[in-house]
Amino acid sequence: MAKPRSEALYAEALQHIVGGVNSPSRSFKAVGGGSPVFMKRGQGAHFWDEDGNRYIDYLAAYGPIILGHAHPHVTEAICRAAENGTLYGTPTELEIQFAKMIKEATPSLDKVRFVNSGTEAVMTTIRVARAYTNRNKIIKFAGCYHGHSDLVLVAAGSGPSTLGIPDSAGIPMSIANEVITVPYNDLEALQAALERWGDDVAAVMVEPIVGNFGMVMPKPGFLEGLCAAARSNGSLVIYDEVITAFRFHYGAAQTFDGIQAPSLSAIQPDLTAIGKIIGGGLPIGGYGGRKHIMEQVAPLGPAYQAGTMAGNPASISAGIACLQALQEPGLYNRLDALTANLAEGLAAAAREHGIALTINRIRGALSTHFCDHPVTNYAEAQDTDGEQFALFFRLMLEQGICLAPSKYEAWFVTAAHTEEDIATTVAAAKRAFAVIAQ
Ligand code: PLP
Repeated sequence: MAKPRSEALYAEALQHIVGGVNSPSRSFKAVGGGSPVFMKRGQGAHFWDEDGNRYIDYLAAYGPIILGHAHPHVTEAICRAAENGTLYGTPTELEIQFAKMIKEATPSLDKVRFVNSGTEAVMTTIRVARAYTNRNKIIKFAGCYHGHSDLVLVAAGSGPSTLGIPDSAGIPMSIANEVITVPYNDLEALQAALERWGDDVAAVMVEPIVGNFGMVMPKPGFLEGLCAAARSNGSLVIYDEVITAFRFHYGAAQTFDGIQAPSLSAIQPDLTAIGKIIGGGLPIGGYGGRKHIMEQVAPLGPAYQAGTMAGNPASISAGIACLQALQEPGLYNRLDALTANLAEGLAAAAREHGIALTINRIRGALSTHFCDHPVTNYAEAQDTDGEQFALFFRLMLEQGICLAPSKYEAWFVTAAHTEEDIATTVAAAKRAFAVIAQ
């Protein structure tokens, strides 16, 4: 598949945009480097690059595009919003309509606030938790990505209950010292951290279902234990549902009973951050929680958070249209069935060629880990063959199948994918595994 125009554009982009990309995950650094593909147009489950090559898209823009590209209902809503002016700097009725939709689907949210990105949403939940508890420290889990604010770009220190170290240049030790990182699915480590830092811990932050080192389920009892331990310590529980909200069913993962027993909805967080899908492909984030906690936020309370673009009519209109479209009966079951076929096809193809592959699938999302062991935490996700993944990624791209360029990212099936797309993908994977096995 020739991509001369993508290559030329990348060379030009490098002159003007740092690293040639506006988000580092878009570069091909994690899959051996080279020019990323420059896309020009998307329609349904497919997009086309600047050279006219067509791809089946499993990147889904890292999650938001659950309906597929240019869904007519969402497109119409965006056009209507644009015709009426995209930004007023005043409240609008649309924001109320959208807030009600989000709240109805996620009852732990008594009050919400819309922002512009998942990063902002998470960052603010931390501020609110600190304001509410009058404590400073946060416990989070290794490998869970919570955006790029200082507080969450922190890696584990020398042991699970030790203070963190900056995961990026430019983050002061004094900030990293406010964060403790423990392994996901490890209640003992959490307990040890809580015992050590007790009264200092404002909140425990978790992706209730992980989407950032592959798709990883909480072990049965993990979230229950986490909530009980945090609350008995007087700490709040923050769910980062930026990836998971509206991913598996119409609502956040915290209200989904179809995945695990005891059901996820048996326990509820104090604060939740959301984003991605709820913006229908336009920039958005949101956070919310119990009324008495959310009342910490300005103008009611002392915790300040604001945004010129927050709640803008275009993003809110796209979000409303997206949620309306997601209410189509059977949509999530269709995603589930398509993704089950994809997972089975990939697993059979890998087996046929003797490739060790662990597939974690949760409804319409899956992850492929080149290893022969389960992946239930970040250390296990790291202990997988990155070179094999990089080769697989390139072989798939050459055949018009677009995956995220990182062994840690998920594949997202959209409502626009068809059985034919899945069959084409499995056939391509078979050819890729045959090459890898050589
Ligand atoms: N939280 C989670 C779980 C995410 O996966 C992401 C982004 O991938 C974020 C937060 C940050 O969201 P955004 O990229 O919209 O700032």
